[in-house]
Amino acid sequence: MTASGSADALVIGGGILGCSIAWNLARQGAGRVVLCERGEVGAATTSRAAALVSGVRSDAAQTALALETRRAVAELREELGDDLALHEVGSLHLAASPESERTLEELSGRARKCGEPCEWLTPAEASSRAPWLRTVGVTRVAYLPRDGFIDPYLLAAAYARAARARGVEIRTGVEVLGISIEGGRIRGVTTSAGDLSVPLVFDAAGPWAGLLAAGAGEHLPMAPVRSHYWITAQHGDVPAGSPVVVLPDAAAYARPEVGRLLFGLRESTSIALDPRAVPADLADLRFESDPDGWETLEECAPAFARFFPALEHIPLEHYVSGPSSYTPDGRHVVGRLPSLDGFWVAAGCCGAGIAVSGGVGRALVLAALGLDSPFDLEPFRPDRFGSVDAFEPAWLARCAAGRSRKRSG
Ligand SMILES: Cc1cc2nc3c(=O)[nH]c(=O)nc-3n(C[C@H](O)[C@H](O)[C@H](O)COP(=O)(O)OP(=O)(O)OC[C@H]3O[C@@H](n4cnc5c(N)ncnc54)[C@H](O)[C@@H]3O)c2cc1C
Repeated sequence: MTASGSADALVIGGGILGCSIAWNLARQGAGRVVLCERGEVGAATTSRAAALVSGVRSDAAQTALALETRRAVAELREELGDDLALHEVGSLHLAASPESERTLEELSGRARKCGEPCEWLTPAEASSRAPWLRTVGVTRVAYLPRDGFIDPYLLAAAYARAARARGVEIRTGVEVLGISIEGGRIRGVTTSAGDLSVPLVFDAAGPWAGLLAAGAGEHLPMAPVRSHYWITAQHGDVPAGSPVVVLPDAAAYARPEVGRLLFGLRESTSIALDPRAVPADLADLRFESDPDGWETLEECAPAFARFFPALEHIPLEHYVSGPSSYTPDGRHVVGRLPSLDGFWVAAGCCGAGIAVSGGVGRALVLAALGLDSPFDLEPFRPDRFGSVDAFEPAWLARCAAGRSRKRSG
């Protein structure tokens, strides 16, 4: 299928962010919109996500993006007549230390500011909602009833279907090979299916987004960092409607997964990859160090087992790992590259790309089209760290530390 000729806007990458951008471009009547995906829609990082969709994030700007995702899901349901299986099971946040109590107080304050419901529960109430959970030593529990999780692949496919229905041309199996620039402006791209002349390009190429930008002489301030989670065998104490659980004291999160417990752990030293080393097909990706996550389990299991004692004996049926793009400050990379007119980036999602997908798509499109916007993209500026060498080991380590510090879901 050809991608040549000219278009008004091009989206590079058919992961959840690219599909959301494409849908938003179509909703704004942006003209001929083409999305190029070298593989299949939603098949890369997106399909590996644990896909927690929490509304209240670590600051107001990220929270606005996440809350917009909830609105996007509601609108997609309307447009497609599909319920999209959003599991609105709520999230429990447990504190068992003064530091985590402060984290919960701040979370509750942010929830209050944006009108999100947040209740304080007793530890006993928490374990009655999540029977697998032991709450000895837990001093405070916050509950956000509107949080939950979703199938990330289905959500990406829904954005894509809705975009296509509004006229977006989605070209799968087409790779963008390079960008052509003239006088500091984007003029077009070269693809594996021909050249396309286009004044507006959205780089939503996931962990590979930095490679396209580097080809244009710009390094994006992020690095692919390993994220991972485990899924236990069937467990009678994980009912389907039980909430997501966030445990800052164990650097862990968990949620139900068809009668099993899915849990993610964050090790003290996360593994970052040189973006050039991430294979195009993630099935070929093998992390050189701790490839099966056993070292992380050894480090983190004792803290997590305090809340989930069955971990000592329950078999683990699945281990899922993948590259999620992190930044040193835990904020996304969303905005225009100041040095390159017409080139917009949606990447560096710091393990929250599913949760913020609706907001990133809408905010970026409103900004790129020069329309009024309720979103503040300033904290996500691609140039906020100044000039970086995104391939340098010291930079990769800073991005890895950004993940290890994360304590939210
Ligand atoms: C283990 C794990 C757990 C996670 N858990 C969560 C979670 O609970 N909640 C949450 O919100 N997020 C979570 N994430 C993060 C989330 O998966 C990502 O933030 C999100 O999927 C990023 O989407 P994307 O569209 O940017 O990238 P991707 O899904 O990787 O899509 C990028 C696409 O670009 C394509 N592409 C690349 N280069 C080119 C090119 N040159 N031409 C054409 N196409 C190209 C690729 O083929 C790919 O399909 C998790 C991630 C992992 C790995």
